[in-house]
Amino acid sequence: MTYGFDTLQVHAGARPDPATGARQVPIYQTTAYVFRDADHAAALFNLQEVGYIYSRLTNPTVAALQERVATLEGGAGAVCCSSGHAAQIMALFPLMGPGLNVVVSTRLYGGSITQFSQTIKRFGWSAKFVDFDDLDAIAAAIDDNTRAVFCESIANPGGYITDLDAVAAVADKAGLPLIVDNTSATPYLCRPIEHGATLVVHSMTKFLTGNGTVTGGVVVDSGNFDWSASDKFPSLSAPEPAYHGLKFHETFGPLAFTFHGIAIGLRDLGMTLNPQAAHYTLMGIETLSLRMARHVENAEKVAAWLEGHPAVEAVTYAGLKSSPWHDRVARICPKGAGGLFTVALKGGYDACMTLVDSLNLFSHVANLGDTRSLIIHSASTTHRQLTPVQQTAAGAAPNVVRISIGIEDAKDIIADLEQALAKASA
Ligand SMILES: *Cc1c(COP(=O)(O)O)cnc(C)c1O
Repeated sequence: MTYGFDTLQVHAGARPDPATGARQVPIYQTTAYVFRDADHAAALFNLQEVGYIYSRLTNPTVAALQERVATLEGGAGAVCCSSGHAAQIMALFPLMGPGLNVVVSTRLYGGSITQFSQTIKRFGWSAKFVDFDDLDAIAAAIDDNTRAVFCESIANPGGYITDLDAVAAVADKAGLPLIVDNTSATPYLCRPIEHGATLVVHSMTKFLTGNGTVTGGVVVDSGNFDWSASDKFPSLSAPEPAYHGLKFHETFGPLAFTFHGIAIGLRDLGMTLNPQAAHYTLMGIETLSLRMARHVENAEKVAAWLEGHPAVEAVTYAGLKSSPWHDRVARICPKGAGGLFTVALKGGYDACMTLVDSLNLFSHVANLGDTRSLIIHSASTTHRQLTPVQQTAAGAAPNVVRISIGIEDAKDIIADLEQALAKASA
């Protein structure tokens, strides 16, 4: 029998501890694991047997979390790492190389835009930014050196919803994997693999942990991509010198990307998630559906109230009928459009600064996906490094604040916004 989402978020990946019977997943606070004997050690190092060697690569607490997230996303396997940004590098690393590029959406988390437009150049990689509502433009941007297509499901910060099925079809036609950042939606609201995604990445820092305690990331592999269909992905299809010529895809099949992520990615890049963080995230995921349902319920109420406020120019929440992306909600994220949206104020930049300074219940922080309601003026903070054109394209124009709606009482969230908007428009 197959369990439902609410059952899996509590149980997937977790069994009573074989040594003690402990019901909750123990925090295996250990660096290394004792080998049974010399042959066992050799087999582990040759990837002939799966087991624990050293916690930079694998750890039982982290492994439970990997299995849980992979299960909730409907993937074949997952690799946890130290942050959402680490997950993006871990996802691209086996695919890319000097001179190669990734085609990415203009609508991304501000830090991802910086990572893709600036930092990856140091590896000789590059990114081509395209409006993902323009499918022809995506196809036109793909060239012989493209190795992946990257977007967010519900895009940060504007409440834009990507037509994942359509984008996946473009990537598929070009023989390329589609990587979807599912941070804002979580697998409760959207399951990108069902819409054709090859890999799903998360900042677990946000809704998955859900309470602002952890920095973490994960790469989930659908197991559906044929890495050997072309010669474009030699890290996965060709002999690996560091493992005596082993071919990951041939040897591990649908788990090739996951094994590569551990045996090469974590081993050599070292962006490892620690077991304590994995424990917090496992606990957070136990209540994921309950929290997301409340985030959505509150966001719908608050966004509708804000849309009717005289100081407000616009609210970009796909849950509102006025949103150009409202008709994608039912297909892409049927349980709701998430807890994140932006609000444009008629009073411009200065009104946004006053609003942020006048709120009491909201926290002014560079974070999202917390149980608490959060706000940030992106143009003066997270999107500060971007040009005004990039800011506007990313939904972070100077008169826009980004709001992450918490799970408090909706009436209290609205009352706080009401008193602060009165000051901002005075
Ligand atoms: C926060 C975030 C990231 C980066 O994650 P970190 O855990 O902060 O490294 C990437 N993508 C999205 C959509 C995010 O919200």
